Amino acid sequence: MTEQRRKTWLPAVGSSISWRLTVATAVPVFLLLTLTGSVLVRETRARYAQVARERAWTNLAPLAVPCARAMAVHALDRLDGYLAEAVNVHTEGVQMMDASIFDSSGDQVASVTYAESGSATPAGETSAAVVAEWQQKALKSGQGQWLEVPKADGTLLLHVSVPTISGLRWGTLFAKFDVSGIQREAERTQAWMIGLIIAVMLTLMFTLRVALSQMVIRPIHELAATAGAIRDGHLDARAWVPGHDELGRLARDFNAMASELQSYTHSLERKVEVRTAEVRKKQVELEKLNERLEIAVGDLERLATIDGLTNVFNRRHFDATLAFEFRRGERSPHPFCVVMVDVDHFKVYNDTNGHQAGDVALKHVARILGEHLRGTDFLARYGGEEFVALLLDTPKEAGLRVAEALRAALEAYDFPCGRTQPLGRVTASMGVAAWPNDARGPDEVLECADRSLYAAKRLGRNRVVGFGPAVLATEEATEEPTEAAAT
Ligand code: GH3
Ligand code: MG
Ligand code: MG
Repeated sequence: MTEQRRKTWLPAVGSSISWRLTVATAVPVFLLLTLTGSVLVRETRARYAQVARERAWTNLAPLAVPCARAMAVHALDRLDGYLAEAVNVHTEGVQMMDASIFDSSGDQVASVTYAESGSATPAGETSAAVVAEWQQKALKSGQGQWLEVPKADGTLLLHVSVPTISGLRWGTLFAKFDVSGIQREAERTQAWMIGLIIAVMLTLMFTLRVALSQMVIRPIHELAATAGAIRDGHLDARAWVPGHDELGRLARDFNAMASELQSYTHSLERKVEVRTAEVRKKQVELEKLNERLEIAVGDLERLATIDGLTNVFNRRHFDATLAFEFRRGERSPHPFCVVMVDVDHFKVYNDTNGHQAGDVALKHVARILGEHLRGTDFLARYGGEEFVALLLDTPKEAGLRVAEALRAALEAYDFPCGRTQPLGRVTASMGVAAWPNDARGPDEVLECADRSLYAAKRLGRNRVVGFGPAVLATEEATEEPTEAAAT
């Protein structure tokens, strides 16, 4: 609850230092000048009241002696003339309304009323009682008396008494004066005074406000604006506050801090730039290393799957591929063939032409076989001068045709030293086995192809033999002489 009050109260009372300073200067000025004004107004009123009494006295006092003399000789008829003469005298701001003379026993012996006094607002009953009581005192008093009685319209009636003395006291002279002229004069003076005080107050407030603004508020705004600019990233912003006072010193310290912050930030930025350049350099080096690593991994992968001499797949990769194809075939049956290829009399080729020439011949064989296979077929070096081809989605008849085309291509190729071979050319024998016709597993299909290859060798080489009765027949024919020899 207290926190809530503070939140709502704070912005209303002093959200800015400018507002607070204005209040702090305006309130004392206002109080001081209001006090001064009220004292001056009271003094002015008292001064004008004094003036009114003096003027009334000046009108009435000169009558006292002639009236006393007239009363001393009982010439009472002269009194009205004296009074009428005095009533008709116009003094600035003071007008005698009526005058009367009472003898020493308290009886009225003469009375005159100013002709225009009928228009004057009469005093109330209370005032009349007060006046009567005052008159009784004045009759007894040996000195002049006065009494101010306010009328209903706010103006004053001034009652004055003067003892009529000529050697002896013969009576008392009373007169009533309208002092509204002096009152108006006093009010005018008061109005001028209040106006002057307000003007002085406003001038003083404005001057103080301007001075405070220049000396305090502007430097504070300058500092706040500079701090805001620095916060927004303008590190070169500086506060311009001249002078050697506290605010000037604060601005200089603030600027020094800003300079330090700027140079620190610049040095940090330079360090970051250097570090970034180093990181970029390392990144480039790393990228190069990665490239080399990728090449090395590629080489390794190639070495793991490719035969180094002939650039076709190696036996390990072939075995894995064949096993995979079997698993695939078990899920969705599709026929394939395995063609085992063995170069005929290659030992002779080596012996005749040397091992180097033999290597070159093997490269040619691999290339020619590869050129006559489809993109989906798979060729591998099975070992030595033996190759194996996996013909995917190929039934046995088609596989035999492909093998025959391979054989014919090899026979047709003019190997550099082919003529020295026993068959007059470099040739190859091939055995073909098909799945699912001839075998049920990968090892079995390879064995069938191998047996077919040996059948081809036995039948005179440079030919294609598919696994089947012919293979079994050649095997039996080979076994018989052995058995006969044994028996
Ligand atoms: P056949 O017709 O019965 O296959 O006779 P062959 O001489 O080809 O068979 P054999 O198994 O007797 O000899 C194979 C030869 O192949 C022996 C070996 O020197 C040669 N050979 C195996 N691998 C390589 C090789 O990488 N480079 C070379 N130049 N010769 C090889
Ligand atoms: Mg061989
Ligand atoms: Mg051979």
